[in-house]
Amino acid sequence: MKVLQVTSEVAPYSKTGGLADVSAGLPAALAARGLKVKVFSPLYCTVREAAPSLTSLQSRPRIPSRFGELDARLFAQHSKPGLSFYFIERDEYFDRKGLYGTPEGDYFDNADRFLFFMRAALQACRLIRFRPDIIHCHDWQTGLIPAMLKSVFWDDPFWRKTRTVFTIHNLAYQGIFSREYMSVSGLPSALFSQEGLEFYGQMNFLKAGIIFSDRFTTVSKRYAHEIQSPEYGHGLDGVLQEHRARLTGILNGVDYSCWNPAVDAHIVQNYTPRDLEGKTKCKGELMSLFGLGGTLKSPILGMVTRLAEQKGLDLLLEAVPRLMRTGIRLVILGQGDEVYARAIRTLGRNYPGKIGVRVGFDPVLAHKIEAGADMFLMPSRFEPCGLNQMYSLKYGTIPIVHAVGGLDDTISAFDPVTGKGNGFKFFSFSASALHQEVRRALTLFKDQDLWKALMTNAMRSDFSWKNAARSYHQLYQKTLTADPYRPPQQPR
Ligand code: ADP
Repeated sequence: MKVLQVTSEVAPYSKTGGLADVSAGLPAALAARGLKVKVFSPLYCTVREAAPSLTSLQSRPRIPSRFGELDARLFAQHSKPGLSFYFIERDEYFDRKGLYGTPEGDYFDNADRFLFFMRAALQACRLIRFRPDIIHCHDWQTGLIPAMLKSVFWDDPFWRKTRTVFTIHNLAYQGIFSREYMSVSGLPSALFSQEGLEFYGQMNFLKAGIIFSDRFTTVSKRYAHEIQSPEYGHGLDGVLQEHRARLTGILNGVDYSCWNPAVDAHIVQNYTPRDLEGKTKCKGELMSLFGLGGTLKSPILGMVTRLAEQKGLDLLLEAVPRLMRTGIRLVILGQGDEVYARAIRTLGRNYPGKIGVRVGFDPVLAHKIEAGADMFLMPSRFEPCGLNQMYSLKYGTIPIVHAVGGLDDTISAFDPVTGKGNGFKFFSFSASALHQEVRRALTLFKDQDLWKALMTNAMRSDFSWKNAARSYHQLYQKTLTADPYRPPQQPR
């Protein structure tokens, strides 16, 4: 089976969040199952830094745009048998510091940038003569591809057998743009309707992915359920309910060759559940990196996060005075909205030696926090899957989470009587619930035998990509054997 993954970020070449990790881990696991996988992504400047020796291809897709035809250059990186990465270059669109914007907001031309990317990806397939059985599209930046296949390319022999799968990694980001992009996109104007990709008078790229893909997925079973409710549906709950027969929840996996304390190259000493000496060394290093006071016995709570409202930073800010009275140390690494960046910097200044803060994107430090902290906090308002809690488990860094989406699916509350469970979770989205749960964790932390039992449970949990890749493979097979899905708005 030939599969094309189209994604706006892929680790280690480009990354703002979990999508990048998924775009690396899933293709590798699919290739290990024998599928032929190609990954297409934009060539940002970070890609050049991570892969200085990309191979330039002769083929140059020419892409219609509102500025006339623009050409793209293609670069390839062959990774493992059956797996290659292709990068689409157009410097005025992608050679920028941020992937989607700056701390002040989104780039004004994101619709043009990702329309160009989607069209270039489809063109490139023809040029390199790769006719995928499945195009797997990720998030709004690729949402119009299923619509293109169901309309302008419907009769095109090249695409006749190709089916699309679309994955929602985060429903909060929908790619909503002015309706003038309908004509720029080349899509038939009939698709601009309530049953199509219209959303309150504008164009919604994510909605297009939902409506026009043969199947669509999201990244945990719980989130698949939640997004059909007004509370988590971001205005699309009705659409999701209507189309739920094509929706599947598949939990993301973890790349344990990268996120595993036994082999992690970024941490000061490796460790395993049997030999935890290295974890104490990592904790010592973390304390000195962040100038934390206390002893190696003082509990440390870590956080690595995008600074966005979704991540529950307001709860944390409200809970900090109470948390500080418990004697816990806090380490935060984050990048994103300026309001939160300012707020956490202030915390660092107000609690020197107790709260350590780094504003920025630092993958190496993220590993050091996973390894050096005792507990990991994820108070997300909503969380489609969440990767950090799964990473934390492997590092024996006990997650304390708000029980939503993938956090609820992966974390089970520890029961000191039965010895079962791998973390702590709170159910009400409030600062006092967060504070209570941290206190519960701190009480258990004092009983080092029980804490070790909990760490062992956590470190033994297995969320490897193998399981997720099997589920996606089955979904692709089902999609290929079923009759092609006919969307309500197919203009034929
Ligand atoms: P989301 O995709 O919503 O940001 P996930 O938990 O799914 O959340 O994935 C977050 C990924 O991004 C993890 O790999 C995490 O380590 C990484 N990450 C987030 N913020 C930072 C940061 N400031 N520096 C380094 N890595 C970060």
